[in-house]
This record gives sequence, C-alpha cells and structure tokens, in this order.
Amino acid sequence: MVLTDLLRQVQPDIPVLFLDTFHHFPQTLAYRDEMTARYGLNLINLRAAEPKVGLWQAESTDACCARHKVGPLFSSLEAYDVWFTALRRDQSASRANLQEVEPFRLPSGNAIRKVAPLAAWTARDVWRYAKDHDIPLLPLYELGYTSIGCEPCTTLPADPNDPRSGRWQGQKLECGIHIQPK
Ligand code: SF4
Repeated sequence: MVLTDLLRQVQPDIPVLFLDTFHHFPQTLAYRDEMTARYGLNLINLRAAEPKVGLWQAESTDACCARHKVGPLFSSLEAYDVWFTALRRDQSASRANLQEVEPFRLPSGNAIRKVAPLAAWTARDVWRYAKDHDIPLLPLYELGYTSIGCEPCTTLPADPNDPRSGRWQGQKLECGIHIQPK
C-alpha cells in the first residue's frame, strides 16, 4: 500500500494487480476491498484460468504457486512494459541483491522493466510512511505476522529476526513471481 500510495500520486489510475489465489486470509480480501474503495484504486484481480483449491496439499506448494500466482501474473504482465514492485532488500536473504531497476524476461521471451522503488527502505521506513500518511494496515500485523501471503502457507515468524520465516513452513523463500523464468 505504501508503494501504491506513492505511485497513485503520479498516476492516480495506475493498474494495481492483485493475485486472487483462492487461498487468502479473509482479512486480506477485506483489506483489499477497503483500500480499493478508500483510494479509488484501479484494481485488477488476477486468477488462474483453472484454479484448484488445495493444490498446495494435494500436489505441492510449487505447483500451487505456479498455477495461482506465477502463471496469472506473468500472463498479465504481457500487457505492460513496466512492473513496479514493493520488494525490499531487507525482507529476505533472497532479496539482498535486489536492484532498483532491472530487466525482467517473461516466459514468452518479452522483456519488461521491473522497478523496485523501495529497494533500500527498511521495515521501519515503511511503517513510518504508513503512519505519517494515515494508511491503514492489514490487521493481521497486529497478530504478530511479519510477512503475509496465502493462509495455508503463512504462520507467525519462526525466527523473530527473519520476517519471512513464517512462509511455507521454511520449505522455500519465494513463490516464483520474483524469480527470473529460465
Ligand atoms: S502460497 Fe500456498 S496457497 Fe498460495 S499459491 Fe502458493 S502454495 Fe498455493
């Protein structure tokens, strides 16, 4: 939401892509709707062509993320030449070398620019911006979550010093949308 707030000051109707994975916390869906109404966002819900609820359990988290996250997002990005993301270097070891601007090649071979304006921000910077600009927070943070994805794959952080240690029970750090396809 902090990145969205910054971008909408420049382009109020900038498309905001939301990955509707069918596995979100109800609080996340309510927050999406509340923020969309509050800021008049140009929200676009992205869904898998053939969703399969529970695929994370029936097959694997990799298969489930590929179907409900990676596929829908990469297909949607074909319509754009720039992709803004709120990734930060301090979020995870897997993001420590994040560049603010880098080329990203989609599975089709088309290249877009991936831009991470908050790359050098800390978690404290984010909280401060949200407070200073009166941006409501997803209530799940008040329960102790530090990185929030789909409900079946999100727990309270196992390591208080690693904000993403509550994701996928430690099986992986990334769902795949931020990994350059081969
Ligand atoms: S985070 Fe979990 S539930 Fe969500 S798409 Fe990935 S495996 Fe499926």
